[in-house]
Amino acid sequence: MLKMNEPIDVVNGVGKKYLTKLENLGIKTVGDFLYHLPHRYDDFSEFKKIDQIRIGETITVQGRVTNVKTSQAWKRRMTITEAYIEDDTGNIKATWFNTPAPLRYLREGKAIRLSGKISVDKKQEAFFSHPNFEFIPVSALQREQEETIIQVDDDDSYNTGIMAPVYHETAGLKSFWFRRIMKDLLPQVEINDFIPNDILESQNLIDLPTALQHIHFPRNQEEAELAKKRFAFEKIFLIQLKTLLLKKDWQQKSAPPIPFNEDFIKAFVKSLPFTLTNSQKKCTWQIIKDLEKPQPMNRLLEGDVGTGKTVVSAIATLSVVNQLYQAALLTPTEVLAVQHYKGLRKFFRKLDFTIAILTRSEVHCAPANQPSKKITRKKLLEKLAQGKIDLLIGTHAIIQKDVIFKNLGLIIIDEQHRFGVRQRAHLQQETLQKEKEKKEIPHLLSMTATPIPRTLSLAAFGNLDLSIIDEFPAGRKKIITKVIKPQGRVQIYQFIKQSVQQGRQVFIIFPLVTETSKISEVKAATEEHQRLQKEIFPEFKLGLLHGKMKPAEKNKIMQNFKNKKLDILVSTSVVEVGVDIPNATIMIIEGAERFGLAQLHQFRGRVGRGKHQSYCFLFTSDNVANTTARLRVLEKTNDGFKISEADLKLRGPGQFMGTAQSGIPDIAMESLSDVKTIQQARQEAQRVLEFDPKLKKLPALKAELEKLDALIHNE
Ligand code: ADP
Ligand code: MG
Repeated sequence: MLKMNEPIDVVNGVGKKYLTKLENLGIKTVGDFLYHLPHRYDDFSEFKKIDQIRIGETITVQGRVTNVKTSQAWKRRMTITEAYIEDDTGNIKATWFNTPAPLRYLREGKAIRLSGKISVDKKQEAFFSHPNFEFIPVSALQREQEETIIQVDDDDSYNTGIMAPVYHETAGLKSFWFRRIMKDLLPQVEINDFIPNDILESQNLIDLPTALQHIHFPRNQEEAELAKKRFAFEKIFLIQLKTLLLKKDWQQKSAPPIPFNEDFIKAFVKSLPFTLTNSQKKCTWQIIKDLEKPQPMNRLLEGDVGTGKTVVSAIATLSVVNQLYQAALLTPTEVLAVQHYKGLRKFFRKLDFTIAILTRSEVHCAPANQPSKKITRKKLLEKLAQGKIDLLIGTHAIIQKDVIFKNLGLIIIDEQHRFGVRQRAHLQQETLQKEKEKKEIPHLLSMTATPIPRTLSLAAFGNLDLSIIDEFPAGRKKIITKVIKPQGRVQIYQFIKQSVQQGRQVFIIFPLVTETSKISEVKAATEEHQRLQKEIFPEFKLGLLHGKMKPAEKNKIMQNFKNKKLDILVSTSVVEVGVDIPNATIMIIEGAERFGLAQLHQFRGRVGRGKHQSYCFLFTSDNVANTTARLRVLEKTNDGFKISEADLKLRGPGQFMGTAQSGIPDIAMESLSDVKTIQQARQEAQRVLEFDPKLKKLPALKAELEKLDALIHNE
């Protein structure tokens, strides 16, 4: 018997030339190979006699081979093999291109089984185009009765007559190949389930050996479903275990308790130009309570764009700084760091504590009640180490090795969803390192404007406590949103002209679709900027902002826009993140149909921040009815949670967290929309840890968890 952790090259048929290809798919061991799960099936389980065949159906027939013919196709080097298959009711032609190797054994008189879709040729005759095939013993055909088809060697077939698994392929590794190896390999491996039996029983799940058999070679739809259910549960269960362990781990560490200085905080809140919403108050209070504890806070503050998360984090900062601890505010972009630096200095302008910003191009430091001053990075680091800086704001430039705080009490991560798992893990490790040196670790507050559906946040951020701001500051007007088809553009351009003449400003966004399209996105935005400036809005000042610009350049343009030196800002998705320009009241999103609702909602959040009525126009480049229907959800509601729930139903969970982002594999992703699985997995995980907190009695489970860790850290 083979073991799951043996290297894959011990398997028959996996020669040297396959190893790199397999590695590209993340397959190094026998276990990895078995866990290369199919993402769908070709259902060939319906058998028919040849005279019953209908064009267009996907079926299996078996019979004798007659008339084999191999010829050179019109294109050189392409061979075509043609043969007729005959059963006791009739015959049918089959053709194969680029003759697959095992077809060499195709001879007249042999018995064969074909599975595939029935096409129709130029003469209007039904035929099999490139069907799957397997040779079968001739004796099997002889035993066949008139009406009943004997499905011979059923357990040996992997390519025809079954629900054939379809795998993610990479050059040179076809599903066909996977099926063959998998079929051979499965019975040779010693498979032990790492999920305890009682959990399998209480959750009605099949065990691992059965699940692997069923997921690769299900005999019917039910078996496939049972297997999927098991694998989805398994992954979510592991993730829950991991997050619960992380949470416990975190709670066992110590952090500086920050007593609540009621008078001081109240005075600050009073000094604000607005009153806090109830949601803001509630969240602030939850944070204050966390900070009072001698264990580090680990809280996620979730609130739609514009709900006012910054001021909540400012109050937390204030509490910490007032106790003479330092605070750090981490942002995903430089633009956002600069905005926070300015905004927070304004909030704190009557106070004398020192705020600094550190990014690649911006290094400033000054007490909040004095004008901001440029300093050198070196000087800043000195001050920081001496504890002379109370709040440091910056991009991940502030979590580098040489950035040493004297006594960091609070880390705030803004727009945390923009940081990858790895960056977050890195941050945590950094903190742990600090812990080794000093024993106490800082409190951690993460903020996100992506209203992740409750189930998802439980699944992905189960180790965090959650605070939700679910109301907007009073007086905020609803953003009027309209889906605009190509023929509607002219009218909108007209509307923009009027608005700009009245002093408003406009965003026109060409958002990023994938990382690889970054260059074409820049090109599109650049060209469109020129076109709009020349042909549509010659009388206005248009700015261009894109990801290929240097941070300093970007800042300058954002500042020009903020200071109204620009009327219209044409931009790639770089403005997505938390920028605050209250006078910008129109948001145009080009190619809106390519985006998830939640993402569009994020873009839209850039407007609607001031006292004027704001608009969002979703430009679509086609007239397809159902894309428009999908986008209309945004016309109807401004509620981020409703939108993300709708999006979850329409597009699945992937967009809230890519696989890479969360470390959650495809198959589990699907079931993330299923609240029940998540809750049950969490309960079971809790139960396991209650009885066996260190998983001492469950070494297999423990090993599996460690594998998951490795997966996430190596992503
Ligand atoms: P986000 O949650 O998107 O980070 P911000 O913190 O940037 O939102 O707040 C958006 C705007 O709303 C800011 O200009 C902020 O000063 C303002 N704001 C925050 N809270 C309130 C409130 N309670 N009443 C009125 N305006 C508020
Ligand atoms: Mg913000």
